[in-house]
Amino acid sequence: MSNMKLGYDLVVVGAGIIGLATAWTARRRGLRVAVVERNAKAIGASVRNFGFITVTGQRRGEHWRRAQDTAAIWREVAPQAGIGVVHEGLHVLAQRPEAVAVLEAFMATEMGEGCRWVDAKQAQRDWPWLQPGMALLHSPHECRVESRDAIPRLSQWLEHSLGVDFYWNTPVTGIHLPHINTSRGSLRAEYGVVCPGNDLNALFPLCLAQAGIRQCTLQMMRVSPGQALHLSSAFMSDLSLIRYEGYADLPEATPLKARLLGEQAAHLAQGIHLIVVQSADGSLVVGDSHVYGDAEAPFASAATENLIMDEFHRVLNLPKASVIERWTGSYASAQDVVFKAQPSPRLALGVVTGGTGASTSFAFARELLDLAMSS
Ligand SMILES: Cc1cc2nc3c(=O)[nH]c(=O)nc-3n(C[C@H](O)[C@H](O)[C@H](O)COP(=O)(O)OP(=O)(O)OC[C@H]3O[C@@H](n4cnc5c(N)ncnc54)[C@H](O)[C@@H]3O)c2cc1C
Repeated sequence: MSNMKLGYDLVVVGAGIIGLATAWTARRRGLRVAVVERNAKAIGASVRNFGFITVTGQRRGEHWRRAQDTAAIWREVAPQAGIGVVHEGLHVLAQRPEAVAVLEAFMATEMGEGCRWVDAKQAQRDWPWLQPGMALLHSPHECRVESRDAIPRLSQWLEHSLGVDFYWNTPVTGIHLPHINTSRGSLRAEYGVVCPGNDLNALFPLCLAQAGIRQCTLQMMRVSPGQALHLSSAFMSDLSLIRYEGYADLPEATPLKARLLGEQAAHLAQGIHLIVVQSADGSLVVGDSHVYGDAEAPFASAATENLIMDEFHRVLNLPKASVIERWTGSYASAQDVVFKAQPSPRLALGVVTGGTGASTSFAFARELLDLAMSS
């Protein structure tokens, strides 16, 4: 490392979205920043996700506010970094009366502000590919980026326009500030923020163990719609209303859970709900399932894929749709939606454990930096 002797105000471990958001926040505060990443490029959850920056549906209270703040920052940062916002907003199609009741209850909370009902019958006329529903909710708060392009662009912009140094192919093996030890030598920094994603064993494993983290593995697909189609926003279905806590924690979700358990038990056993988003080339990113364990699940199942596509067809009448790409991804999951700790003075450690890191990254990064700099 030629410039390791220079020293930094802050070293960030991990070039996923949480690490990059932390680097951006620190540069805004005028700090000299380096990011150290074990791989040659980001290949973790941050590039495997939907790139769906979701506000509506996030856990009520602090986490929902994190998502609001983060969506605003994405909209500020994306054009500066040359990242396209592929589409805006979210539609939730309710196909059961119990699902309508959940959405009505949601609309009555502070989280419903800015959301509106769309006439479902009119929507079917405008969008002939939309399956019949009983109600359609539109939320304007969401946006979407193409993560596999957006994350590399964000790191390039941080490096070339904002002066952040990146050390790729460089696992961090230990931190005793001001020393950050890596497989390639040592860096010096006043502060450190560790954003390891689902790597729970390399740094501070005992500290991370306090969070009760498990690995959650998801199956994802890219789907050709088989016909011309402009989605304009993300789409979700009844299953999402018992998964996303902003809806699922409402008392009105209990009857919906009971009904879905009876009607779609196989989907629920694989943790399936539906998110459909569209890419610039017209293809759709479709998911997902959630399987929990001590380690990432290495194999993708055709049966799970069929269940996801079954839910897809319940919402979108696209009989010629076909899967053109498949992948899995894994994130660190725990009861609480974030975990943050201070393993030693001037050092913060943080993981988004609710599967919502793209949506809450910038706000969480601010918390991590505040934690590191508070001592
Ligand atoms: C399939 C899938 C779909 C998802 N969809 C969404 C979505 O639509 N919206 C949303 O908000 N969230 C979504 N999520 C969750 C979101 O992607 C994650 O919460 C987020 O990407 C976590 O970011 P991260 O930076 O913590 O982790 P990561 O992206 O995993 O990055 C951590 C980085 O740290 C590096 N690292 C770890 N240890 C070391 C070390 N010792 N030395 C050097 N480098 C190290 C790793 O190599 C890695 O690059 C999804 C997740 C998955 C898997």
